[in-house]
Amino acid sequence: MQSLIRLSDLMSSLRIEKLELGPIGTNAYLVWKCGGGDAVLIDAPPNCSETIKPLLEKESLVLREIWLTHGHWDHMAGAADLVGDDTVVIGHRDDKTLFEQPAVMSAFAMPGMDFKPVTITKWVEAGDSLDLFGKEVVVNHCPGHCPGNVIFWIKEEAICFVGDVIFAGSIGRADLPGGNFEALEKSIQTCIYTLPEETKLLSGHGPDTTVGDERRDNPFVRPV
Ligand SMILES: [Zn+2]
Repeated sequence: MQSLIRLSDLMSSLRIEKLELGPIGTNAYLVWKCGGGDAVLIDAPPNCSETIKPLLEKESLVLREIWLTHGHWDHMAGAADLVGDDTVVIGHRDDKTLFEQPAVMSAFAMPGMDFKPVTITKWVEAGDSLDLFGKEVVVNHCPGHCPGNVIFWIKEEAICFVGDVIFAGSIGRADLPGGNFEALEKSIQTCIYTLPEETKLLSGHGPDTTVGDERRDNPFVRPV
């Protein structure tokens, strides 16, 4: 009986492969369900297809959706290489210009970068609900680092994909075009620090952290 329970737990659990990719080490997350054939990619760094495609093949997966936390080139410039006719690409409308003309950020990128635009097929906003292999995902809008930053919270798994809103012991830059520190501080206080303490934060750069750790130790934004 016990082994049956463990097997069913295993079959319903998500596999999350964290991959540090692109010229400035951006975290992308490939998510799939054990035993399933579909995958979702969260963020698509430049040239990520060189790593993602072999991984999809190895695990016998088809990439169905790409969820972009924001429109900065290091998170989206690899999406176009992975998009097929039916691939759903998710983003927030406030980063529309960045998704469609990522080269506007060329002054802040590596010289010689190839800025491939991506077509968003599904715009999301705060309060939207998405499905991740049977698990509910709540979208929230967290501007400040970028106008169209969104986070994806999977309550049932106690994880949240936060892009460049917050990092372990740090926060996203607010000095890039479209950035605003006051907005970022408010986003973190109202959208991140209000999540359950044990929630694991999967950031766009660097190691994972938790809501509790950042509420206690983050030196840049303090809880209200
Ligand atoms: Zn960014």
